[in-house]
This record gives sequence, C-alpha cells and structure tokens, in this order.
Amino acid sequence: MMQKKEYDVIIVGAGPAGMFAAYELAEKLDVLVIDMGRDIKERECKMKRRGICTHCDPCDIMCGVGGAGTYSDGTLNLRPDIGGDLAEQTGDPEYAWQLVDYVDKVFLKYGAPDHLYIPKGDEVEQLKRRAASVGARFIEIIQRHIGSDNAPIVIANFEKDMKDKGVLFLLNTKVEDLVIEENTCTGVVLKDGTKISSRFTIIAPGRVGAKWIDEILHKHKIEAKYAPIDVGVRVEVPSIIMDPITFINHDPKFHIQTKTYDDFVRTFCTNERGFVVKEEYEDFIATNGHSMTNEQSENTNFAFIVRVELTEPIENTVRYGRSIAKLATTIGGGKPVIQRMGDLRRGRRTTEKRLKKNQVINSLKDVTPGDISMALPHRIVTDIREGLDVLNEIIPGVASDSTLLYAPEIKFYSMQVIVDRDMESSVKNLFAAGDGAGLSRDIVNAAATGVIAGRGILKKV
Ligand SMILES: Cc1cc2nc3c(=O)[nH]c(=O)nc-3n(C[C@H](O)[C@H](O)[C@H](O)COP(=O)(O)OP(=O)(O)OC[C@H]3O[C@@H](n4cnc5c(N)ncnc54)[C@H](O)[C@@H]3O)c2cc1C
Repeated sequence: MMQKKEYDVIIVGAGPAGMFAAYELAEKLDVLVIDMGRDIKERECKMKRRGICTHCDPCDIMCGVGGAGTYSDGTLNLRPDIGGDLAEQTGDPEYAWQLVDYVDKVFLKYGAPDHLYIPKGDEVEQLKRRAASVGARFIEIIQRHIGSDNAPIVIANFEKDMKDKGVLFLLNTKVEDLVIEENTCTGVVLKDGTKISSRFTIIAPGRVGAKWIDEILHKHKIEAKYAPIDVGVRVEVPSIIMDPITFINHDPKFHIQTKTYDDFVRTFCTNERGFVVKEEYEDFIATNGHSMTNEQSENTNFAFIVRVELTEPIENTVRYGRSIAKLATTIGGGKPVIQRMGDLRRGRRTTEKRLKKNQVINSLKDVTPGDISMALPHRIVTDIREGLDVLNEIIPGVASDSTLLYAPEIKFYSMQVIVDRDMESSVKNLFAAGDGAGLSRDIVNAAATGVIAGRGILKKV
C-alpha cells in the first residue's frame, strides 16, 4: 500500500484496543492502523497444532490484525474491574459498565455467539461461602465465550467493516519510534526510517510491544509508572475436577492471600476442556491456554499467578519478570517446564517416565519434564503450593499429586502510561490504550480503553 504523508490519526497496533479505537474514529477521521503482524487471513495459527509455535517472526499468535485476542480463547469478561479498572480510569462507575456493554454489543454485531455464561444464583452463594470459609474470595462474572476458532471470523468481519468505512491498514510494518516535537506527537517513524505524520497518535501495542513501549517512554520522557506483574504456572487437571465449578462460572476467579508471604494469588483464564499453549516472546517462552468450540481435550487448565510489585531498590517489574522467564526458559531448554504437583511436593523433578505414567495427560507436548522450583523464585513456588492447597479445599482434587503445572505463566502489564480521563498521555496528541500501555489486561478492557481514546480524540477535533 502506498501510504500518504499525513493522516488525522495513526493507531499503532491492530489488537482489540487499536480496532475499537478505529471503530470510534471510522468515517469521522482519516485513520491509518499500523501493525507489525499479518492480515487476519494470512495469520497461520500454529496453536491449532497444540501450541507448537515455530519461530514465526513476529509471532502469529501475538501479532497481526486482531492482536493477541485473535487466537485467544475469546472469553469476554463482562466486568469493568476484571482485566483493568475502567471505573477508576473514567471516574464514573456507571460509564464504565456502559463501556463494557458497548464493547460486548460490537462483538455481537461482528458475529460473537449469543450465549452468555451467567453465574447461577444459589450455587454462587454456596461457592462464595465455601471460598470465604478458607480465607479465599470467589468473584462472579458474566462471560461471553467467542472460542478460539470463532474469534478469527469475528475479527475478519470487524476488519472488513473498518476497511469498508475507509480505515487503512499498513501491516507487516513495525513502528520504530514516535515523532515528538515540543512535547507534541506529530507522527511515527517506521523500521525502514519512513516518517508518517499524524495529528493524533494512539499507541496500542499489546503485551508483545511491552519492551518497545518501555524504550519509547524512556527515550521521550513520557510520564509512566511500573505496573505490577503476575508470575506463576498454568495448572492442568482432568475436566471432571473443575466441572462443578465451571458449571457455575465458565471462567471462575478465586482470589487468595497466601499464608507465609501474605501474597496475592489468583486463578485466571480457565479453559474448560481446553489446551495449554506455548507463547514465544523475543527472548523467552511462556505458557497460556485456550479452548475451542469445535475441539475439546479431557482436561481443564487455568493460570495460577502471584502478583509481584517492586519498590526498592528497583521498581522495574518488567525487567524482573523477564529475568524470571528467561531463567525458566533456560532450565526448560527453550520449552515450558512441566511438573506433577506430587513431584513438586516431594522436592523431585518430573521425568519423562513419571510424566508418561501420570493420570493426567499433558495437552501441550512441546515441554520439558523438570523441576519448577529450579525455574521460579522460592517465594513464587511457595505461594503456588500454599495457594493450590487452599484452592483444593474449595475444589477437591485440584491439587492432587497428578495435577500438572507448567512454568512459566507470566503476565506483563508493562509500564503504565500515565493518561488523563481521555487516555491522552503527558505528550500532547499522543494517546495510549490496551495491555501494552499497562492500561488493561483483557480483551474487553483493552477494547474499552481504545473506545475511550477514540472518543477522546473526537472531543479534541
Ligand atoms: C493465548 C492467549 C489467550 C488469551 N485469552 C484471553 C481470553 O480468553 N480473554 C481475554 O479477555 N483475554 C485473553 N487474552 C489476552 C488478550 O488477548 C489481551 O488482553 C488483548 O488482546 C489485549 O489487546 P491489545 O489491543 O491491548 O493488544 P494485542 O491484542 O496484544 O495487540 C497489539 C498489536 O500491536 C502490534 N504491535 C506491537 N508493537 C508494535 C509496533 N511497534 N509496531 C507495529 N505494531 C505493533 C502487535 O503486532 C499486535 O497485533 C489472551 C492472550 C493470549 C496470548
């Protein structure tokens, strides 16, 4: 595509944040969306081969139209306080709920399934009581499950509509830098040195862009702070163990404070009858999970992660998280480390032989049987063990000896760009949205921050 020299708005990143910003601006302003990944139809989802993502550059799972959401499980958490904090961002709890509803309706319009997972009345009360009795908290959420196989179709419909409305997409193109003069952003610089000017710029590069955002924030002295990260494991159990809970809530959230360190541990991203997948970053690997509407495994997996905040002498949680992930990648020989819960308890590594005779069959095959206590810091491992023991009292069997743990599962929220209520940063005409700017942690919240940024720009014109 021959690009013009100037646009009203440049959006960096075609994930949910970037796409929803484009949705707000389409037909009103001249919009260019730039993404370093491929078009939806060219993205080859290697996750369909059980997460054996083989070194595509950039990774097709994380990059391209639809962003990381395209091949995600596509679970929409319909709450403004899960995966972000829209009430705090907007200063208006009612508006926060309206944004969630709006995002959901847009997904429905582009083909998300009608069915909603609504936590069931009495059973929710019982679950809350059971959790409270062991010092944990159960958070109820209404969810819509698009499914990994449906999500690309929904995104393709979304992209087509944006194109029909005049939004331009410049793909396979990395934005290297921003043009900032006199504290005003006036465009972007591409990898090949080309400059494209814009009146407004939205940076929405997702978690895969966390390092890039870190660099530009420092280079241009854009106001930001370090956000906490989540580090832990992906847990895999027979579905039958989780069924009584996933029956009540498709993606149940439990919050636990651990005994020894009083750390915050939570369950996250449950994939009923799903698959564990490998995520590839520039210099390390991590794990995640997904489930499909048309294909099922016999297991259910979920993330079990510990919140890590740093104060002194370093606040840089991203650097700390990366060093943990690199250590885990080293000890796993470039693959996720897998360990049986029983082996972790007994302080011994899981071997190929032990894994083979385990009752739970691992859904991700590209793994190294090993010892998670060699891969993650002692404090994290202690939190995981203690947290899973608490969870076991709520969900009997979840911490049995045959439960599988994959490491590392790591959620970076990168530097949090300091923005005003309209998502404008300390640099004039530079807006930020989504996970990469540390402003969200899931699809719905990322999309909502994109909506706020789009509306913020419209206010200024
Ligand atoms: C396997 C997996 C499963 C998930 N499951 C769920 C789920 O079920 N429910 C849920 O709510 N969330 C889920 N998530 C998280 C969810 O996908 C993210 O929260 C969401 O996609 C964030 O949206 P975003 O727009 O901020 O960023 P992203 O979706 O990450 O998109 C960012 C885009 O920016 C591009 N980019 C980055 N840097 C540059 C640059 N310098 N130049 C050009 N382009 C750039 C990238 O290529 C990418 O396409 C999952 C994530 C993964 C990886």
